[in-house]
Amino acid sequence: MHQKLNYIFLLFFVSYIFTADKNICNHCNQLISNQWIVFEENDYHNNCYENHIAPKCSLCLEILTGEYLLDAWGNPFHKIHEADGIYCSSCSRIISEGVTQGGYKLDDGRFLCSLCQSNIVQSTSQINISKLKVLTLLQKIGIEGINKEINITLANRITLQKLAHKISSSQLKGFTKFSYIKSPFGNLASEYKIYILDRLPTIEFEAVLAHEYLHVWLYENNIELSPAEREGFCNLASSYIYEQNGSTFSHIHLDSMDADTHPNYGDGFREMKSNLEKNGWKTLLHSLRQ
Ligand SMILES: [Zn+2]
Ligand SMILES: [Zn+2]
Ligand SMILES: [Zn+2]
Ligand SMILES: [Zn+2]
Repeated sequence: MHQKLNYIFLLFFVSYIFTADKNICNHCNQLISNQWIVFEENDYHNNCYENHIAPKCSLCLEILTGEYLLDAWGNPFHKIHEADGIYCSSCSRIISEGVTQGGYKLDDGRFLCSLCQSNIVQSTSQINISKLKVLTLLQKIGIEGINKEINITLANRITLQKLAHKISSSQLKGFTKFSYIKSPFGNLASEYKIYILDRLPTIEFEAVLAHEYLHVWLYENNIELSPAEREGFCNLASSYIYEQNGSTFSHIHLDSMDADTHPNYGDGFREMKSNLEKNGWKTLLHSLRQ
């Protein structure tokens, strides 16, 4: 449920030769005596434009002319870098010294920028803080009765894919394992284990965890849905967490979910989302329970 967003932009500027009127540079406020550059309807000395105004490539830091691309955050770069540009697997920024202060290649092949790396969930105490936050938010929309003792384990992408072989997808960020265990009295009790992709920034971790908690809620309420309904419904919790957060990071994830072409995570999600928008959480949860 993640994709990079690229837009191609064309940069126009016009260089004029001085003729009659006196002209003032919009950067240094000094008189321009011969040739100048007009950029976004303002006049600049050539030097002022090149050193202070011209949009620069996020990767090679050279001035952008002609066609260029933007990452999901609007960071511009030359089209020639498109093939070898590396995007952060969490925030979709193009990884570069200037934009992200570099980044990391993880052992499972993912790339993580330094900005995201500084905010990842790693420790048990971080997991517990996020867990309580997510459970509290879910309670507000009527998702109740989820045992807060359910084990949450972090795993890299390779381990996660092996655990969830049936849903094998390189995009998989969480997985809930459900099993029955026999109690000492001989009856069956359900047991859950939640696995979440490791080294996710806090808000992304919480969005994935919320999705997995909805799987638990469906199990607990004996609700059987088609894969598209099930994943679409669980994705509602992720989008709810992102909406509550409201940051640019979250909006990029929300856009990415809206644009997801996957039949379950994309189509299924949009179907459930329009149901939610029409009926609200209370009615939606009630209708699923019937
Ligand atoms: Zn100037
Ligand atoms: Zn460049
Ligand atoms: Zn990042
Ligand atoms: Zn799911």
